Amino acid sequence: MPTAEEFRALWQLHLVDTAIVEIRKRAAGLDPGKAEAHRLEQLTQLLEKESAATKALRAEHIDLELQQQSHLDKAKRLHDDLYSGKVVNPREVETMEKEIASLKTRASGLDDRLVELLEQIPPAEQRVKKVEAAIEEAKQAVQTRRKVALEQKKILEEEYAKATAARPGAVKAVSPNLFAQYEAIRKRTGDTAMAMVSKDTTCTACGNRLAERIIESIKSERLTPCESCHRFLRVKEGVV
Ligand SMILES: [Zn+2]
Repeated sequence: MPTAEEFRALWQLHLVDTAIVEIRKRAAGLDPGKAEAHRLEQLTQLLEKESAATKALRAEHIDLELQQQSHLDKAKRLHDDLYSGKVVNPREVETMEKEIASLKTRASGLDDRLVELLEQIPPAEQRVKKVEAAIEEAKQAVQTRRKVALEQKKILEEEYAKATAARPGAVKAVSPNLFAQYEAIRKRTGDTAMAMVSKDTTCTACGNRLAERIIESIKSERLTPCESCHRFLRVKEGVV
């Protein structure tokens, strides 16, 4: 049976290990800016979409203008030929006149869509600019978050170095036999090897309700493990 002093030393070691476990948990929970990076990714995709849509509108506008110009140029050429005096055959004249009319109709038929495009292009360009501005903001947010995470990581590393440096001294104060038992429990739980008894007589680590004989055993300063999680139990300060 460990002496009260040894029990206290074991508890000190437990406090050091608990601190190490806590630091590791906090380190694992460090957020390097997942949400911020996700938003940036989404905005980048949106920019691609909006840019492509704007590019398509501009391209269509240029294409229709060229088509329109081509129809009008062709109509002008036919018109010039028709009135050059070279064409005398009435059927040929009629055909050419029909062709000129058709070309002019096709050219003016593009007007509606051209006007529509001229109305659609400026708002599309505005949308691109808006997304570009949002991307700049998102990039800033990513950088800020990353900076904060790096600062937090540095603090945790310092705390971790301090806690691990305190461990060998705490281990030394415990007998090898007791330390071996302690380490075996720690290996089993994956984190800590001791727990307090709560006011309602449950194990604070696993929540198991402790039997009266377990409480009595702890109070009589026996090394008593929780029947559920096997951690050594300790009641309030001063009792053991
Ligand atoms: Zn327990």
